Amino acid sequence: MPELTDMNYVREVMNRHGFQTSKALGHNFLINPSVCPKMAELGNAKTGFGILEIGTGIGVLTKELAKRADKVVAVELDEKLFPILDETLAEFDNIKIIHGDALKYDLHTLIQEEFQGMETAVCANLPYYITSPLIMKLLEDRLPVKTITVMVQKEAGQRLCAPVGSRESGAVTVAVAYYGKAVKLFDVSRGSFLPAPNVDSVVMQIERYPENIWNVQDEALFFRMVKIGFSQRRKQLSGVLAGGMGISKADMKEIFNQAEIAPSVRIEALTMPELVRLSNAVSNKINQT
Ligand code: SAH
Repeated sequence: MPELTDMNYVREVMNRHGFQTSKALGHNFLINPSVCPKMAELGNAKTGFGILEIGTGIGVLTKELAKRADKVVAVELDEKLFPILDETLAEFDNIKIIHGDALKYDLHTLIQEEFQGMETAVCANLPYYITSPLIMKLLEDRLPVKTITVMVQKEAGQRLCAPVGSRESGAVTVAVAYYGKAVKLFDVSRGSFLPAPNVDSVVMQIERYPENIWNVQDEALFFRMVKIGFSQRRKQLSGVLAGGMGISKADMKEIFNQAEIAPSVRIEALTMPELVRLSNAVSNKINQT
């Protein structure tokens, strides 16, 4: 079986199946042979583990995951890749590829049904056009996984591990901090892909806290507040939240008072404990009325 990082083979198999890469679907296939084995190893692909992958491409990472883990389940949106995958992954019987949009898929149920009796992890070279919403979803869905190991664009990687309360932070930074800790594993140059994107990439790993460490009373409300706040990150937070959450300015003033936060603050200046206090003060107010 030829290597899936052999450019001549990759071109040949795509031609034979009449497959053309699509920018809109984020097709950048890894052809650097050292990346996928390393990613699989660091990403917990090992005995006793089931791995969820998002976006298979022609299966270069899928294969390295399947060599090491008990089982791999991948969600892939592009049906045109399926006949290619039948060929490239033919030697494995521990891979299941599901046709679907990872942004809309019930990944929690999928993991529970497919990986019974195994520990689980996510490992994926993400389609870059949906990096943030996908990571938000993986975190908000509170997937029962040990680690989330993802390749993202360099800038997105910086955002993931920025300190909450810094200018580089965003809604996704807060989501990561809520759930666990993000660390950078290694850099991947743009020349490692076919076709080459115009930015470099980085492999990040989010390690989940074993239990909930923040005393957030209403998780859904917390995430909603954070998203609304960061949608107008340079404006005064109290005004943004009053408008976005349908709460009167007077009530919002009380909420900020209760949380002991200045109403003029911008969301990007708040630390995690402050965001938690604020969201709990909002829940209290809503429950009162
Ligand atoms: N892991 C492969 C491919 C990465 S390219 C490699 O490293 O070579 C991104 C892949 O994500 C493509 O296969 C693309 O078709 C798929 N994809 C794009 N949007 C998706 C979505 N919403 N849900 C699932 N897969 C998606």
